[in-house]
Amino acid sequence: MNIYDVIIIGGGLAGLTSAIDLSINGFEVLLIEKDEYPKHKVCGEYVSNEVLPYLKRLGVDISKTKADQIQRLVLSNRKGNSVRVELPLGGFGMSRYALDNLMYEKAKSSGVEFKFETVTDVAFEDHHFCIKTHSAEFYAELAIGSFGKRSTLDKKLDRDFIHNKTPWIGIKAHYQNDDFPDGEVQLHNFEGGYSGLSKTETGAVNFCYLAHYDSFKQERSVEDFNKNIVAQNPKLNSFLNNADLLFDKHLAISQVSFQNKNAVENHMLMAGDSAGLIHPLCGNGMAMAIHSAKLLSDEIKNYKNHRSRYQLEKNYTQIWKQTFRKRLIFGSLFQNILLQPKLTNIGMLAVSKSPYLLKKMIQQTHGKPIL
Ligand SMILES: Cc1cc2nc3c(=O)[nH]c(=O)nc-3n(C[C@H](O)[C@H](O)[C@H](O)COP(=O)(O)OP(=O)(O)OC[C@H]3O[C@@H](n4cnc5c(N)ncnc54)[C@H](O)[C@@H]3O)c2cc1C
Repeated sequence: MNIYDVIIIGGGLAGLTSAIDLSINGFEVLLIEKDEYPKHKVCGEYVSNEVLPYLKRLGVDISKTKADQIQRLVLSNRKGNSVRVELPLGGFGMSRYALDNLMYEKAKSSGVEFKFETVTDVAFEDHHFCIKTHSAEFYAELAIGSFGKRSTLDKKLDRDFIHNKTPWIGIKAHYQNDDFPDGEVQLHNFEGGYSGLSKTETGAVNFCYLAHYDSFKQERSVEDFNKNIVAQNPKLNSFLNNADLLFDKHLAISQVSFQNKNAVENHMLMAGDSAGLIHPLCGNGMAMAIHSAKLLSDEIKNYKNHRSRYQLEKNYTQIWKQTFRKRLIFGSLFQNILLQPKLTNIGMLAVSKSPYLLKKMIQQTHGKPIL
């Protein structure tokens, strides 16, 4: 029976990052992911530049890709009144189709073993994990849970947040719109939600939004919702009228939960959205996924020296809270402001008068470059 050093469940950005980091540091790593690469995912696809130095150190050099270099943010209220501001650190626009695949290729060449199966159960017994899929069982000393916002595994683990319904749905598709500027991310408000627009490495524009179910359920389809609710914002109306849908249909996810989660569950170490999801308007979920994977990989490297599982779990829980708790609180605050038209207008007026204020607000939900 082979016992891996680490088994990672879920190969999104958190799982792939920890797989590469641990593998190049000598760990025997198995990553189990349910879907093959490349694949599209519901995501705004704006990545904060804070991850660039660390990704480069792992051998993933974004400057060698055609990702859109983003320096400006345009923010509009429901009426389409907008402000345009320079971003303090900026980011890049790259599809998850390309970014996850780039990381996957890097992980493979770093020696990570992959299985494309759905994990159905995880048990911790006799200081080891037994991880089950439909066809096999795998064993490991350590297990990382990086299976995203919501998975059937959360039910199996009986995690607290899974018992509560949440009203948020996410929709995404790529569009061709030749008028859309390079170097810009746009955040537009509409009744019951907000949408992000930014270019990807192919030149296509990613159109992604988060909407409250109460607002969404009045319409019969995504197309009707776009036409009747989203397009009430003149900026979004103009975008949609001049854009061609590049996907066969929009991708959709429901039950997006922003509730607190634990960084460790039954000895499994959680990374990325499995440990906590920030509100999408902050554009920091992917950076947090990558950063949490780095923090966890560092703690696992320390574990090699002290061999105390208790210490590993305690240290990781502490550092996760220290690094991200404040960001989640501010993210929630900003989302509440954005969903109330009066507060949005006051906020936009303040930001247009003082770009410094926006910089301060962004700093509350972003980190410094990860080295
Ligand atoms: C509407 C919306 C817009 C967003 N926009 C942005 C943005 O612009 N910028 C930003 O930084 N963040 C954004 N985010 C957040 C960002 O998408 C996430 O924070 C990020 O994807 C987290 O990465 P992850 O690796 O934790 O999870 P994921 O990327 O979701 O990866 C989890 C993986 O686990 C796999 N998996 C799940 N269950 C199992 C199982 N049982 N067995 C095997 N595999 C399994 C899945 O197939 C998946 O590949 C947005 C989120 C939403 C909802």
